[in-house]
Amino acid sequence: AFDTLMIGGGPAGAAAAVYAARKGIRTGVAAERFGGQVLDTMGIENLISVPRTEGPKLAAALEEHVKEYEVDIMNLQRAVKLVPATRPGGEHEVQFESGASLRSKTLVLGTGARWREMGVPGEDEYRNKGVAYCPHCDGPLFKGKRVAVIGGGNSGVEAAIDLAGIVGHVTLIEFMDELRADDVLQRKLASLSNVEVIKGARTTEVFGDGRRVNGLTYEARSTGELHKVDLEGIFVQIGLVPNTEWLQDSPIELSERGEIVVDARGMTSVPGIFAAGDVTTVPYKQIVIAMGEGSKAALGAFDYLIRQ
Ligand code: FAD
Repeated sequence: AFDTLMIGGGPAGAAAAVYAARKGIRTGVAAERFGGQVLDTMGIENLISVPRTEGPKLAAALEEHVKEYEVDIMNLQRAVKLVPATRPGGEHEVQFESGASLRSKTLVLGTGARWREMGVPGEDEYRNKGVAYCPHCDGPLFKGKRVAVIGGGNSGVEAAIDLAGIVGHVTLIEFMDELRADDVLQRKLASLSNVEVIKGARTTEVFGDGRRVNGLTYEARSTGELHKVDLEGIFVQIGLVPNTEWLQDSPIELSERGEIVVDARGMTSVPGIFAAGDVTTVPYKQIVIAMGEGSKAALGAFDYLIRQ
């Protein structure tokens, strides 16, 4: 059995593993895909002190750093069930799709999140070639260009306001007949001269020249008419889904959006079980934040262990 076991091997799980192992406790990492979302990323320019790197390179560096220590890495293991300890200080059990199960006195859950996709033709083909999901990450790549933001909730309207200060022109496309963002955001959006808002519109296809995005089409839902917009970038902002389906039947408290609720030390509602990164209620889903939160959760777990 482990003293601390990380479920997930993205930036949060990797950071937690390094911090835990440096305390000299028995540490393991079990992940469906070591590296996490970082593996799907091309340019990364906001990991402080690393001005520029690429996803696969960073994922390899995460693994190399974890392997500096005595950490059991169990890759390609998908957790399907959590059975919490029945008494304080007892062992928690995690069951995996493979039929294996692992026990540990503390856990750090870092199973991350995934962006909801539009599911239209061209989206997959042009991912990272004009189709983007993170304005904090990729906004500066579209300096002076024309982009669309898909989604008129808070994250879509925030993205449009943010991007309007960087890019040349923003077209915000909302499916419903009204934006769903907070009033104060909507007022700010309306004050910007380089933003156009199109409501009641369903994005139907992403186009490109084979190398990069050059446009999209949307259907005006009231008339069924198709319209084309010429542009260089598309930011999809229709939701970030936390990977917590496997915790649905567990006693771990989840927010309305399915994110794991954590306290200031990263502890969940179940003593000895911690969580970190995109899977939690902590706002702003970024690599540097996931690393910080993972480190914090590992220290929280260590603190918990020495008090048992
Ligand atoms: P993740 O990276 O999502 O890792 C989750 C881990 O848990 C993975 O190992 C996964 O396989 C595993 N897992 C999931 N479910 C299970 C399960 N049931 N059982 C076992 N393991 C499981 N952020 C930046 O700061 N800068 C950028 O430039 C940037 N660009 C991005 C570009 C793209 C295309 C995407 C998708 C994201 C980008 N991000 C960027 C966001 C950043 O990748 C995330 O904030 C960060 O990876 C979150 O780390 P995490 O460890 O919490 O989760």
